[in-house]
Amino acid sequence: MAVTYLKTAQPRPAAEGNDIRGIVAKMLGTIAEGGENAVRDYAERLDGWTGEIVLSPEARAAAIARVPEDLKADIQFAYDNIRRFAEAQKATLNECQIEVIDGMVAGQKLIPVSAAGCYVPGGRYSHIASALMTITTAKVAGVPHITAVSPPRPGKGIPDAIVYAMDLAGADLILNLGGVQGIAAMAQGLFGSRPADILVGPGNSYVAEAKRLLFGKVGIDMFAGPTDSLVIADATASVETVAWDLVSQAEHGADSPVWLVTTDEALALGVMARVHALIGELGEPNASAARTAWDERAEVILCGTREEAAQVADDYAPEHLQVMASDLDWWLGRLSAYGSLFLGKETTVSFGDKVSGPNHVLPTSGAARYTGGLSVHKFIKAVTWQRCNSAASHELALRTARISRVEGMEGHARAAMLRTDSDDVSGAAF
Ligand code: NAD
Repeated sequence: MAVTYLKTAQPRPAAEGNDIRGIVAKMLGTIAEGGENAVRDYAERLDGWTGEIVLSPEARAAAIARVPEDLKADIQFAYDNIRRFAEAQKATLNECQIEVIDGMVAGQKLIPVSAAGCYVPGGRYSHIASALMTITTAKVAGVPHITAVSPPRPGKGIPDAIVYAMDLAGADLILNLGGVQGIAAMAQGLFGSRPADILVGPGNSYVAEAKRLLFGKVGIDMFAGPTDSLVIADATASVETVAWDLVSQAEHGADSPVWLVTTDEALALGVMARVHALIGELGEPNASAARTAWDERAEVILCGTREEAAQVADDYAPEHLQVMASDLDWWLGRLSAYGSLFLGKETTVSFGDKVSGPNHVLPTSGAARYTGGLSVHKFIKAVTWQRCNSAASHELALRTARISRVEGMEGHARAAMLRTDSDDVSGAAF
């Protein structure tokens, strides 16, 4: 049986990306020239913020004191899990040293970047978990200077729970800034921050575009588009659970695609019949966002075999991939393109988004074909070194000089031959 689309997505408008690129490029240019004053101006125009940009120690302590104790305990639980997972990832990184030839030793060292800028989105929702995911991971990697920014709410600043999460995770400096101005401030080292070596964290299309345009001057974790999710389900899955998992991910935004890939037509039809009712339970504005995401972006794909279903999932390379089917070990072994995998009905993408430990900053829009998500590896440079004794140096020099001269690179050949005890660095004798 071939793969059959029971529901398809509408084509995306093509021009949108170009408009945003132009706006963001202009903003970055204005901030490069105008510095902190330009940033303050954008903070007022876009986020209605006229207060202090730097969150003072007193304001930080006051915000933390306002967070209810039970919420603090939940955030602490999530932090502990995220930190433990990041520490386990760090343990997989190793320095090494080998004698490549007699007398010539080479090695790899691991050096964390000096400064990281963590963006914590906050336009529509208060993304507490994004503060933990980015800052904790940088801290575990050993980054000595961490700046965090998040959009301030007019008259109030960054929500208290986000400040608490930023503080717990180890942010050295917190700035009341969102969007392009927040990203640019961290890249340029404004308001007392260290110029960021790497900018990380999810955000809307303005934030993502700012990171993309600054890439090269600074490192970035990845270019993130709208969040996306794919559910694989067979006849053993529950219509209600599959439908809620799709709806919960459509809640991210009107442009967030969700895909159902199934080997069971009855399940597919059941889910399609149920989704709108569940969306109605979300309340506004979440329901409108999820309804548009479902109506315009969602796809439902019926496959004849589990192998076909796995191939469809690999082709989509989703950010989040959930499997509710029998023989979970088969799926774990077979699937090869996803940001994060959730196996079985007992888990859900919501766990990964908030508390369970693996990072939620993940590749979107098919980028899972070539990269995983945010991890300690992104903050640590694996650099190499080498040294020789004179016998090894002599052998390397002769071979380097011969290859260099064939390549036409006389300067390289001379630099190599200086390492020999020969008086004839021109190579005539060789
Ligand atoms: P945001 O913090 O990304 O963006 C808000 C900022 O956008 C504001 O501070 C404002 O300065 C700027 N802005 C708004 N309109 C603008 C305009 N017209 N011109 C210039 N700048 C403008 O918050 P958001 O908008 O709610 O978006 C959050 C995004 O983060 C969503 O797309 C969500 O899916 C994503 N997200 C992804 C993950 C993940 O791991 N993949 C996790 C959490 C959030």
